[in-house]
Amino acid sequence: IELPIHDAVLGRAAEFGELPALIDGVDGTTLTYEQLDRFHRRLAAAFADAGVRKGDVLALHSPNTIAFPTAFYAATRAGASVTTVHPLATAEEFAKQLRDSAARWIVTVSPLLETARTAAEKAGGVREIFVCDTASGHRSLVDMLATGAPEPQVDIDPAEDIAALPYSSGTTGIPKGVMLTHRQIATNLAQIRPLMGTGPGERILAVLPFFHIYGMTALMNAPLRQGATVVVLPRFDLDTFLEAIQTHRITGLYVAPPLVLALAKHPAVAQYDLSSLKYIISAAAPLDARLAVACAERLGLPPIGQGYGMTELSPCTHVVPLDALDAPPGTVGKLVPGTEMRILSLDDPDMDLGVGETGEIAIRGPQVMKGYLGRPEATDAMIDSDGWLHTGDIGHVDADGWLFVVDRVKELIKYKGFQVAPAELEALLLTHPKIADAAVIGVYNDDNNEIPHAFVVRQPDADDLSEGEVMMYVAERVAPYKRVRNVTFIDRVPRAVSGKILRRQLRERT
Ligand code: ATP
Ligand code: MG
Repeated sequence: IELPIHDAVLGRAAEFGELPALIDGVDGTTLTYEQLDRFHRRLAAAFADAGVRKGDVLALHSPNTIAFPTAFYAATRAGASVTTVHPLATAEEFAKQLRDSAARWIVTVSPLLETARTAAEKAGGVREIFVCDTASGHRSLVDMLATGAPEPQVDIDPAEDIAALPYSSGTTGIPKGVMLTHRQIATNLAQIRPLMGTGPGERILAVLPFFHIYGMTALMNAPLRQGATVVVLPRFDLDTFLEAIQTHRITGLYVAPPLVLALAKHPAVAQYDLSSLKYIISAAAPLDARLAVACAERLGLPPIGQGYGMTELSPCTHVVPLDALDAPPGTVGKLVPGTEMRILSLDDPDMDLGVGETGEIAIRGPQVMKGYLGRPEATDAMIDSDGWLHTGDIGHVDADGWLFVVDRVKELIKYKGFQVAPAELEALLLTHPKIADAAVIGVYNDDNNEIPHAFVVRQPDADDLSEGEVMMYVAERVAPYKRVRNVTFIDRVPRAVSGKILRRQLRERT
């Protein structure tokens, strides 16, 4: 039988009862499965009582807190679609998302209330702002739990109704609202479950944000469906992160490549007891095999696994199963059940490529989004008439079906007819002991050739690292057409929360 997302996730909450579902990683406040189940039902009733109706869009504007999942599942139980908002969005950006999604309701937290108010005023159409904690002049979710209204009986069609409306990261263009039905999200959870079977007794650290599809899946829906405990951190800072692993005896980490980099290279790591960790999974951006190996070796862990996906794929199509110790280094995984993949030639998109050949990854399966909200042309440009979603990512598969992602089509640097993947050069730069972080973009030189330009962050004690040394290091290790031809030293590589390099910001600095 098909279930709406709140039932698909919380269907076993009664069985998990007094087990901790969520723990605040800073102050230790705990929410049991019984409480999560009871609170989200009561809050759904209060939302309905306040006027939330089936099909309404509710904007959830919050950093990671233990209340976030309660608000999320309460909203979907009341029949709403949840559009998650970046907690650091400006009022202008938030207003854009409110207008674009025609949101009628906002759930925020008191430190972000002013931004939410301003955004609601700019956008128009918002009927009420609720606040998770307490704040004057607005209803708080805490008080609403005591409303005592009857639980709403909303008829949800899992195949048609939109459960979540996350926005894509905006790495390559404007962020687009991605319509994901209850069925798409629930099916994807079922697809990854046999491969990622986190269960009771496991402790997952939610340091990546719930609002992004990766966190929403790996740190919220999947572990809560399976009775694990999610320890929640509101924001990232390396020491708090490492301390939380130590204090809460975290067993599994779902992170993005910058955190793998920190775990592999940062001196602070040695000061903490991270022996409770059993595995680390990375996703959302390219992870170099050498870096993955360095991190696993330093921490004495099995190889770091990866997952691959995108907002438009609910989000996952590939994972390295937790028990697959034979996975080749650098792979993002194997296709999850019930999903098809093709690798299409970059020169002729109608031509299928074979094992070992590199081309654009196309996916067909039940997790392909319903479409972009209000952008039928963009939807049609991405999903063809046979249902294949063209990911814009480049990769190849080996004979055993392991997928390797090279980079994005849009980010390839074209140098004199050759193609250079920035991710490959970035990974190579990170192997230099004096380089703490790096990013590469293509810039046009005077001959109108696109050339690789590297932005490099020096290690704290490596002020002597010169541009020439960086260029030489790369030149000795790659074919001539891939050489880095410009180097700029910077303090920090600009990245999205999911670890993606914000190349547009770097482009402005050339
Ligand atoms: P936009 O589509 O708005 O430009 P975005 O594509 O960055 O933003 P997301 O849906 O958050 O938005 O990210 C999906 C992308 O993340 C994929 O298309 C792929 O490029 C990248 N990605 C995800 N997992 C991996 C991985 N394991 N290795 C390499 N890249 C990955
Ligand atoms: Mg994308």
